[in-house]
Amino acid sequence: MDVAVAGAGPTGLFMAVALARRGHRVTVVDRDAGPAPDGSWERRGVMQFHHPHGFRPQVCQALQAEMPEVLTALDGAGAERVVFRGGDGLPAPYAALRCRRALFEQVLRDFARAEPGVTIAQGHVDDVLREGDRAAGLRVDGRDVRAALVINASGRAGRIAAGLRAPAEGGDCGLAYVSRQYELLPGAERGPMNAPVGIIQTLTGYLIAIFLHDRGTFSALFIRPADDRRFGALRFPEVFQAAALAVPALAAWVSPDRSRPITPVLPGGRLYNTYRGQLDADGRVALPGLLHVGDAVCTTNPSAGRGIAVSLRQAVSLLGLLDEHPGDPSAVALAFDEWCLTTVRPWYEDHVYWDTDILRRWAGGDVDVTRRLPSDLIMEAAEKDPSLLRVVGPYMAMEALPSTLDEVEPQARALFASGWRPAPHPGPTRDELAATFPAIP
Ligand SMILES: Cc1cc2nc3c(=O)[nH]c(=O)nc-3n(C[C@H](O)[C@H](O)[C@H](O)COP(=O)(O)OP(=O)(O)OC[C@H]3O[C@@H](n4cnc5c(N)ncnc54)[C@H](O)[C@@H]3O)c2cc1C
Repeated sequence: MDVAVAGAGPTGLFMAVALARRGHRVTVVDRDAGPAPDGSWERRGVMQFHHPHGFRPQVCQALQAEMPEVLTALDGAGAERVVFRGGDGLPAPYAALRCRRALFEQVLRDFARAEPGVTIAQGHVDDVLREGDRAAGLRVDGRDVRAALVINASGRAGRIAAGLRAPAEGGDCGLAYVSRQYELLPGAERGPMNAPVGIIQTLTGYLIAIFLHDRGTFSALFIRPADDRRFGALRFPEVFQAAALAVPALAAWVSPDRSRPITPVLPGGRLYNTYRGQLDADGRVALPGLLHVGDAVCTTNPSAGRGIAVSLRQAVSLLGLLDEHPGDPSAVALAFDEWCLTTVRPWYEDHVYWDTDILRRWAGGDVDVTRRLPSDLIMEAAEKDPSLLRVVGPYMAMEALPSTLDEVEPQARALFASGWRPAPHPGPTRDELAATFPAIP
């Protein structure tokens, strides 16, 4: 069958290769031209492209199942596979990946281009073609790309066939990223770490992180309330560097005797928590043969690094349903919608609750022990009381849904109700840090 995929991001490329390996002829259309001849890749329209990405073990699991050669190619390109111990103390069955998103996508794209049965075309998808009551391909810059199955993998900013689905739930999560990539100097050791990606720390009113990537590269990151305009000053390289040096955990990495910056400062655009199913407002499949997957279904605040894991899990599920219901795209859409509701939507809900509460606390509010704790506080409690890890560990690894935390939430809440609070990590408060920034008009 001819398949048209809108969007050559991680989800679209993964779907394309996997469908071609099932014997289909797949055309992937993306408005982006791909890397320039000198290897640089700006990737307008995917604002997160050069921001730090952590690749959870689910990403390796999906690649291992459908296209294990991509993992070998990533190894060859310098990505680092890291196996962590799970909540049960045993090594996780799949590795996490440390590499820049640009490297990940370049390797996957090169692989897809070489895959028999996959064609990557450049163009803007204007609309989905219809024939009778079925999807029949894509309209691309006024041309028709005909297909019996259409996959919308156009990401969080995609507007394709927007009128054919019930509107998205959610919106701006209220937090914003600003990051910069660095490279360790020859012979320099890595800085201290407290997390699989590198470092994640909550300070008073903001978060910082170091994400380790490939070949000695890493990103330094500030996450702060989007409406704190003072942090706009971080887009100036000297302000960013001074701010990073003011936070001990970041300073240990970005000090000039350990590393050097390799990109400009990357100010983040808006970050979303959104969920959008397959069906129209009446709960029907509006256009059989059109399926939505990846960030086009669910986007979560990236600070927990879940996006590509959730997207490729969706892709694997969708492939399974297409195998199960050949020639019945309505059945696939209904079954996939149901699967997403129970397996994907909870991650969206988890972040909405967590982000709303963290913004309230960052504005000066205390932990509210009169209602369910958000997941970040349950994770913090597990650091104090490791008996919680039995339940919290699988959630952190995304092997168990957020609702599994219900079992230990009362125990975590009792800890907070007793007056215990996690000790703040060393470093300036948000106000103290912002006081050092120059005023910007
Ligand atoms: C700041 C930030 C940091 C993140 N960090 C992490 C992380 O640490 N770990 C993690 O797992 N995830 C992270 N994510 C999420 C991750 O980036 C997404 O989950 C991932 O990009 C989803 O892939 P996708 O292929 O579904 O969509 P995208 O990557 O958005 O790809 C969609 C593609 O569709 C194309 N497109 C859209 N519309 C059209 C059109 N009309 N015509 C032609 N082409 C079109 C776009 O050009 C793009 O190439 C982060 C997200 C953000 C915003």
